[in-house]
Amino acid sequence: MPSVLVTGANRGLGLAFVESFAADGWRVHACCRHPEKCRPLQDLGEGVALHRLDVTEGLQVEALARNLADEPLDLLINNAGLGGEDEDLESLDFELWQRLLAVNVLAPARLAAAFWPAVVASSRRVIVNVSSKMGSIADNGSGGAYAYRSSKAALNMVTRNLAIELKDKGAVVVAVHPGWVRTEMGGPEAEITPEESVGGLRRLIDGLTPADSGRFFDWQGRELPW
Ligand code: NDP
Repeated sequence: MPSVLVTGANRGLGLAFVESFAADGWRVHACCRHPEKCRPLQDLGEGVALHRLDVTEGLQVEALARNLADEPLDLLINNAGLGGEDEDLESLDFELWQRLLAVNVLAPARLAAAFWPAVVASSRRVIVNVSSKMGSIADNGSGGAYAYRSSKAALNMVTRNLAIELKDKGAVVVAVHPGWVRTEMGGPEAEITPEESVGGLRRLIDGLTPADSGRFFDWQGRELPW
């Protein structure tokens, strides 16, 4: 049975990932800050292990990696993320910016550093960083959202670095844009449901080959410019 670890599993895309993998019989490690408060996760049954994890807490990440050290991990999904404001130079919020960098950049790198041995010990060996088209420098024609854009651009660079460092261990590491999704972050006007996004992303993930490592794809499997 393949296994997956999902961060930010209590709502939005993270919860949709967990539900989708659980429905297909995967062993799921669902990580979130308050598992005791998340009823939908508790109802998913034995195949889903719940773990308390604030992704910015290094000690928690390391303790979880030690707890799971005996299990190969087929797929690590760095999904937890923080949205920002649409700032301009008049409204930059540097404290919020630092929080975004901690959650959107440092945490995925920390998770990768803690879990790569389990990932490369598995048969699928995949790491997915949930990024955003907002982090694409080539796609940025409208500016704004300094903190969020720069955090996802940095995550994209982390993704390429991981792909290079883990290449000879057979790992495939990609950044993905999930689409504009109806979650708390995406808002009610967004174009697609979490289930649609996750359906597309799972098709993409299933078809990944080593040649795809270090690249950036959207939820429909189209490659995006960095
Ligand atoms: P939500 O705002 O619905 O969910 C965000 C998740 O991240 C929550 O589970 C939240 O947990 C978790 N999280 C935030 N900070 C931490 C932390 N310190 N430790 C652990 N978990 C944390 O967003 P989405 O589901 O929409 O977003 C998922 C990913 O998709 C993000 O990386 C986002 O940037 C990306 N994305 C989303 C888009 C969209 O349109 N929705 C578009 C492009 C990218 P808690 O409930 O505890 O706060």
